[in-house]
Amino acid sequence: MEKDPRKRAADLLHLRGQGLSKGDPVALPLVSSSMFHLPGDPDAAASYGRVDNPTWQALEHSLAVLEDAPCVAFPSGMAAISAALFATLTAGQTLLIPSDGYYVTRLLSTRFLSQLGVRVIQRPTLGFAEGGFDGIDVVFIESPSNPGLDLCDIAAIAAMVRAEGGITIVDNTTMTPFGQRPLALGADLVVSSDTKAPGGHSDVLMGHVATRDAALLEAVLDWRKISGAIPSAQAAWLLHRGLETLEVRFDRMCQSAQTIAQTLEGHKAVQAIRYPGLASDPAHDLAKRQMLRFGFLIGLTLADKDQAEAFITASRYLRPATSFGGVHSSAERRIRWGDDVAEGFVRLSVGCEPVDPLLDDLLSSLDNLA
Ligand SMILES: *Cc1c(COP(=O)(O)O)cnc(C)c1O
Repeated sequence: MEKDPRKRAADLLHLRGQGLSKGDPVALPLVSSSMFHLPGDPDAAASYGRVDNPTWQALEHSLAVLEDAPCVAFPSGMAAISAALFATLTAGQTLLIPSDGYYVTRLLSTRFLSQLGVRVIQRPTLGFAEGGFDGIDVVFIESPSNPGLDLCDIAAIAAMVRAEGGITIVDNTTMTPFGQRPLALGADLVVSSDTKAPGGHSDVLMGHVATRDAALLEAVLDWRKISGAIPSAQAAWLLHRGLETLEVRFDRMCQSAQTIAQTLEGHKAVQAIRYPGLASDPAHDLAKRQMLRFGFLIGLTLADKDQAEAFITASRYLRPATSFGGVHSSAERRIRWGDDVAEGFVRLSVGCEPVDPLLDDLLSSLDNLA
């Protein structure tokens, strides 16, 4: 049985404190050392900076409490995704990825993995299971997909993939462990960009892989050690600090997003809106079944590029920036990166501002659109 997320959040805040001796610092020390004192047999807790670091270990301990699974920290979300794919795939195998997910995962697969003899196939997140999973070795899911916010049934897909002998990886970046539990739904590996809500302050890039499968965990750890894709101690320290407030930030962000989505739905300047928490959203029933929260991302389609840009720039409380999940709300037109969305499609990331002024600000920008 999975632990209540609120219990997990409380445990997280006292994880370090439980193991302290008199005089130890309560806050996590930032240990930045490539060398560790290692006379005789190399059997110490830390050996060399590419292999171990006490600050990463503390971070991974926190992440493991959130995921209810062993975790491996990486210097970015893409480094975590690369680790999961390189640790599971070999030449001659087949990888299925979403055609409408995060575009850099597609680039990694089509520009690099395919050149190493991996067959890469793509399907849209909506209808991802159509065609089945026979002959597919690794299935990579992103639900809700970034940026379109379509969903697929993680539990049903993971069960089908397992029955065919394959491995399921879920990119849980848009939801965090407080919003969705892919391992509990049957996934083998979870990957996340902790650059987003887990870091939360837009001052660090990080990522992690979580898995309860001992062999997969060892492969991911070997990949990090051998490829050298290691986080800096400073970045690990910042993420550790961010995780301590993730639950309270995520709660505020999801609640505000629900209020904002309900208010903007039906505004005359909004042609279409996607938010899994809206009763009118095509994915709402599935979202209720598989997600604990409905997230902080809203997809807004305005009339055209000019209206979308005018909305973003006129809003005092929106940072016009790529990435999402920060304490400050932000927005961007995703077509500028080549995503298959309308010219006027805006991905809105709801931050931690109190909802009333934020909503007033967004409404007045929308009201002023010609
Ligand atoms: C941002 C993002 C990534 C990549 O994360 P980085 O930390 O930028 O490397 C991967 N997947 C999704 C869904 C993302 O939004």
